[in-house]
Amino acid sequence: MKALVYKGPNQKSWEDVPDPVIKEPTDIIVKIDTTTICGTDLHILKGDVPAVTRGRILGHEGVGTITEVGAAVTTLKVGDQIILSCVSACGHCGYCKQGVFSHCLAAEGAPGIGWIFGHLIDGTQAEYVRVPFGETSVYLLPEEVSPQQGTLLSDILPTGHEIGVRYGQVKAGDVVAVIGAGPVGLAVIATVGLYGPSKVISIDLDSNRTEKAKALGATDAVVSSDKDWKQQVLALTDGLGVDVAIEAVGIPQTFAMCLDIVRPAGHVANVGVHGKPVELPLQELWISNINISMGLVNTNTLDILLKMVAQKKIVTEDFVSHTFNLAEIVEAYDVFSRAAETKALKVMINA
Ligand code: NAD
Ligand code: ZN
Repeated sequence: MKALVYKGPNQKSWEDVPDPVIKEPTDIIVKIDTTTICGTDLHILKGDVPAVTRGRILGHEGVGTITEVGAAVTTLKVGDQIILSCVSACGHCGYCKQGVFSHCLAAEGAPGIGWIFGHLIDGTQAEYVRVPFGETSVYLLPEEVSPQQGTLLSDILPTGHEIGVRYGQVKAGDVVAVIGAGPVGLAVIATVGLYGPSKVISIDLDSNRTEKAKALGATDAVVSSDKDWKQQVLALTDGLGVDVAIEAVGIPQTFAMCLDIVRPAGHVANVGVHGKPVELPLQELWISNINISMGLVNTNTLDILLKMVAQKKIVTEDFVSHTFNLAEIVEAYDVFSRAAETKALKVMINA
């Protein structure tokens, strides 16, 4: 088969590799129908994720059709079309039983880290993929949901919902600010409406992206290159700040922006993956009773979100900016990596 292979920092190629085979009785083999590229894949290509070794097939998102099942698999069959979760879950360990799949103790490659596709084992940017713990790690795609919508459920919609909205404890009436309107910040915006906030403020440097945020449900947009961005945000509250500030960028500056606009007793939910140490001024924050949360997505709400997408309670149309064929994946990487020029958001790659 063909696959997108990481060849070391700044090198990748679409090339022939051996077809995946069943290794464990709980494995399934899936023919990829649709996949996509994540910002994390760009980080890997820069060499920022040393756990990814040369020769690794990248990708951790997608929808596919089962072509083979292991001997222990009884609830899935050849021909089923399924959503792949970016996190693999054995379903039996202590963490899986709590729904904390991100720390599955049986994960292949590194017990305790559930994100293994395109990281510690071969991933989904390929014609076929081997999926460990098939029964507990994939979700049947209902007829009403397209493979492209299903692909948004592999990672970004659960990430925005679980680490942004739920960890941020958004409740009815809240004023919520979301800093960063990339695919993940937009996934926060697309799912936060399920909890009844009174206002959702999208904050980004790029006004194209805050416009997308409005299409997906933001009530207000603030461009943070404006000198008075903070005053603009406070003016949208009662003056005390937002109830929940969600960080969806991953740099110290945007985390500090969350602390700047959150009201006393409010929540800051950090979703961004940080590459550098971030300052945490506890000496100032403690007296404001600020709650801070963070985490790796579990995808334990994927099934709930799938129902909401099927019922059109979550808008997904505006996430996809470009569509390619699998054989054009190198071009898709090029377009995705120049998002500021190409206005790329999610690039869908169909077999
Ligand atoms: P992205 O790079 O596509 O989007 C980031 C957005 O932030 C862009 O629109 C950019 O214009 C904006 N931005 C940059 N600097 C800014 C600033 N100073 N002020 C305001 N806006 C600014 O990223 P993405 O794919 O949407 O992912 C967002 C973050 O979520 C990343 O750090 C990613 O690694 C992380 N992530 C976390 C998890 C998890 O499990 N916690 C899962 C997936 C992704
Ligand atoms: Zn487990």
